[in-house]
Amino acid sequence: MQPLDSERDLIKISHCKKDIFASFVPMHCPFCGQSLAYRTLKEAPVSIPSPFVNGHRERCSFLLKPTSGTFLRGYDGRSDLHVGITNTNGLVYDYNETGVHKAEYGWEQCVSVPLVQPDMHDLLTQWDTYLEQFSGADIWLPHRYQEHFHNCYTYALTFINCVLNAQKKQQMNKSEFTERFVIPRTRKASKYITIYKEICTNGFYAVDHSDQDNQTSPGRQETL
Ligand SMILES: [Zn+2]
Repeated sequence: MQPLDSERDLIKISHCKKDIFASFVPMHCPFCGQSLAYRTLKEAPVSIPSPFVNGHRERCSFLLKPTSGTFLRGYDGRSDLHVGITNTNGLVYDYNETGVHKAEYGWEQCVSVPLVQPDMHDLLTQWDTYLEQFSGADIWLPHRYQEHFHNCYTYALTFINCVLNAQKKQQMNKSEFTERFVIPRTRKASKYITIYKEICTNGFYAVDHSDQDNQTSPGRQETL
């Protein structure tokens, strides 16, 4: 399998009643062999942006990645996932069985949920202090960790709820947050991973127009 640059967009072209995904525009249609140099506007290539971002460039965000490896290498759709929260400088705070950690690297390929709108100046100026103080609490000591009930997700969601509380907004439970903010993004990521892996193996990936859904289009994603 030839790895592609994971931050580069993929492209989609339409030909032979199919959507053909590739890492660059092929010279010829892989189905009919016709040259793709002169296309109608309808057949013009469309860019498919990667759903993954470098978490260290995301400020005040919830991040999700595989516990080991990356989404595009080694992830099989069932592997354990790990989550964290970034401060205003992309330093990632996360919690596991050895306590709270602050990472300057290791979160380069993530699904990200922005937690603060750019105009929330008060929250932005206090974010780093909030996060630091929150992370120092006794409940995040290593011995308090429990794989299913007091884990990385508990840590991140409790922090998000503290922030919502400070803004006098309604708190969210795990399933609410996951369904509203995480699943729309992971669904898109999962589709992208399928396309990416096929392109690595076969050079392209094609679906019939009728089978196509809109998960790869840059649809609207909710932010907090
Ligand atoms: Zn064709």
